[in-house]
Parts: sequence; structure tokens; C-alpha cells
Amino acid sequence: MKIAVYPGSFDPITNGHMDIIKRASRIFDKLIVAVVRNPNKVATFTVAERVELIKKAVKDLPNVEVDHFEGLLVDFMRKKNARVIIKGLRAVSDFEYEFQMALMNRKLDPNIETLFMMTSYKYSYLSSSVVKEIGRLGGCIGELVPEVVLPDIQKKLINS
Ligand code: ADP
Repeated sequence: MKIAVYPGSFDPITNGHMDIIKRASRIFDKLIVAVVRNPNKVATFTVAERVELIKKAVKDLPNVEVDHFEGLLVDFMRKKNARVIIKGLRAVSDFEYEFQMALMNRKLDPNIETLFMMTSYKYSYLSSSVVKEIGRLGGCIGELVPEVVLPDIQKKLINS
């Protein structure tokens, strides 16, 4: 069984993330979307909220699982029996950091491969930060996040 892990902050999930999830789920037997708990990063949504939002958004994709982890990604991967890390690439600006992470993860565990998927061009400008900025100011985020979680995200952002 080919299992891949798609790690990220997902603070909150966007249509850019969904695009990668749908496309990766067609390639692998199982895709685990893994929310990273990063103690050094201030998040708007709690890990539990982020996991819930993703679960709602992927409920029609039967081979997609949602989980969270803290610590090293390679440890989480080994625990899940997964050998492929999925990463989305938006722009050249994503590349340098992702390149470094991919090489470091391979050094930590040579059996693990990182696979990069290019964003669909209509999502290339989209990030969780943009969603948060527009949402907090009361702007329309309707086309930026999955419809099923739009009210939850709007409510949280207006109150944060
Ligand atoms: P961000 O806060 O920048 O949206 P995340 O940590 O939540 O970042 O992103 C998780 C993964 O999803 C990363 O591999 C990131 O490159 C990718 N990603 C984020 N937004 C998009 C998008 N619009 N299109 C493709 N990939 C994306």
C-alpha cells in the first residue's frame, strides 16, 4: 500500500491545499493530511480546530485521513508506514526553503522521498495568511476556502 503524508500548518485549510489533496489522493492508496503542531509559530486556529476543518473538507475523499503531529516529520512517517512526503509549490519563493527541508528529511531518513506538486495557477497567490488577512477585515473569502468550512472560518476570523 502506497501511503503519502501531506504536512503543513493548514491555519486554516484553503482551496490551494484542497487542490493538492485531491490530486495527491488520486496517486496514492492513502493520503494522510498531517497538521503540524509548531510551538514556535503563533497560530490562529488550534490544532483541534484545524484538524476538524480539514476532516469536514475531505469527507468525500475516502482514502484521505487527517491527523496531527509534533516533533520530527520522519518519526511520524515511520509510525504511519509512509515513505512519501507531498509538498505544494506555489512560486520560486517556496523553493529554497522546501529544497532545504527535503534534503534534511532525506538525510534523517534516506528511505523517505519528497514529492513536489505544482499548484494550479489559479491558486498560486493563495495562502492561509492571505485568507486570514482578508477574513479579519471582513472581505469575501468565499472562493478561497472550501465551501463546507466557510462559515466556521469566517466566524473565527471575525472574532480573532
Ligand atoms: P501556508 O501557511 O503558506 O498556506 P502551509 O504550511 O499550510 O502553508 O502549507 C502546507 C503545504 O501546502 C506546503 O507544502 C505549501 O507549499 C502548500 N501550499 C499552500 N498553499 C498552496 C497553494 N495555494 N497551492 C499549492 N500548494 C500550497
